[in-house]
Amino acid sequence: MEYISTRGNAPALDFAGVTLAGLASDGGLYVPREWPRFTTDEIRAMRGLSYVELAVKVMLPFVQPSLTEDELRELCSGAYGRFAHAAVTPLKQFDQQQWLLELFHGPTLAFKDVALQLLGRLFEHFLAQSDAHLTIVGATSGDTGSAAIDAVAGRDRIDIFMLHPNGRVSDVQRRQMTTVLSPNVHNIAIEGTFDDAQAMVKRMFNDAAMTDRFRITAVNSINWARLMAQVVYYFAAALQLGGPDRKVAFSVPTGNFGDVFAGYVAAQMGLPIERLIVATNVNDILHRALSTGDYSAGTVTPTAAPSMDIQVSSNFERLLFDVGGRDGKALAEQMAGFEGSKAMQLTNAQREGAAALFTSVRCDGEQMNRAMAWAEEHCGEIIDPHTAIGLHAAQVAGIDPAVPVVTLATAHPAKFRDAVERATGHRPALPARMGDLFERQESYAELPGDYAAVAAFVESHGTQSR
Ligand SMILES: *Cc1c(COP(=O)(O)O)cnc(C)c1O
Repeated sequence: MEYISTRGNAPALDFAGVTLAGLASDGGLYVPREWPRFTTDEIRAMRGLSYVELAVKVMLPFVQPSLTEDELRELCSGAYGRFAHAAVTPLKQFDQQQWLLELFHGPTLAFKDVALQLLGRLFEHFLAQSDAHLTIVGATSGDTGSAAIDAVAGRDRIDIFMLHPNGRVSDVQRRQMTTVLSPNVHNIAIEGTFDDAQAMVKRMFNDAAMTDRFRITAVNSINWARLMAQVVYYFAAALQLGGPDRKVAFSVPTGNFGDVFAGYVAAQMGLPIERLIVATNVNDILHRALSTGDYSAGTVTPTAAPSMDIQVSSNFERLLFDVGGRDGKALAEQMAGFEGSKAMQLTNAQREGAAALFTSVRCDGEQMNRAMAWAEEHCGEIIDPHTAIGLHAAQVAGIDPAVPVVTLATAHPAKFRDAVERATGHRPALPARMGDLFERQESYAELPGDYAAVAAFVESHGTQSR
């Protein structure tokens, strides 16, 4: 498989190339040159496979020839062997129509483990082949940081520097990062907000004094390999609910449009999907874009579902490219306009293409709390605030009652236990394997909100590769 940039002006790369590159050199995002497609018979034959075997079937067309089938299988076994549930992503029933796909059984209790556990292994595999070294620099408001750190801790050829806003992530989130004591893991608590930390990371990617010496990469969901890994659980859930002979709808708590774009990819590959419901909180740029065509960034309102508190949804560009006729030049102009004014209108082709599969729902704090309370009262299920936004959207999106609707459960409720307790009166406990999180030793640097201090820290603790 060959990958091309959504902005049409970067070299085409193979799977190994896009995995290590992250962003394309023209500022665009990599997408496959065409979508691999399974026949209905091929999808039917996937019923009953283990998660690892299903993952191999679904991902193989994307990774060849960079990986052989056996190499892919070994990487998937390693990644998904670390999950605490034998089904990896078990499906639970709420009522006759509503279902829950639990994606939080990985090491750090959020769905990001599904992709990052694989990505860490892919990095190591491809770096060993080219005898190279990678410096991961990221900013996190919580979930990405812990999942990325767990995925690369102790790995040769990789250093990770993770910035979090000092005092502004939950205790559980901070400890999940700072109690990982491997020498290649560097946690930095930075004075300021998440946006300040993110701005420093962006500056470092453009700082030639740093990029000349370090091969710096990002691990956010613009990386194609992350999206690819998430396509697998759409197949897993649909197959259990009668797919491909019955259509299934999905409701996805959405921030950066990565998780729900993976559902779009599954549909392009032939999986019969009735609707993809894009569930947003009050930070609703995606809801506005999909319902009115107005894609314009405002200011972020902090909510109890912080992983969805975004202004700009990076992966939306991939959808605009695909439904807008795959015209890289036109999209580059459209995105340049957006980067200038922080606002743009979707074209008619983009609006119609998106409307064919996507529905959007905006969920406020009260609706979110009611969904958490409903799940607890009617099903005895404690769900996290992000998942609750998905469930609310699933219940009000107007899906045909004969079609099962699967809400993606993106985080374990114990990760957001204050918000869960407020809504349900129950304080969820951490799973047993994390029970000693509050006894573990922490290690992190505290730095002022000053770029020079962060750059100096990376220079003195990193491994130069060029
Ligand atoms: C990251 C995250 C999301 C948003 O996922 P996107 O792929 O950015 O749309 C939703 N819920 C939780 C718990 C997350 O960690």
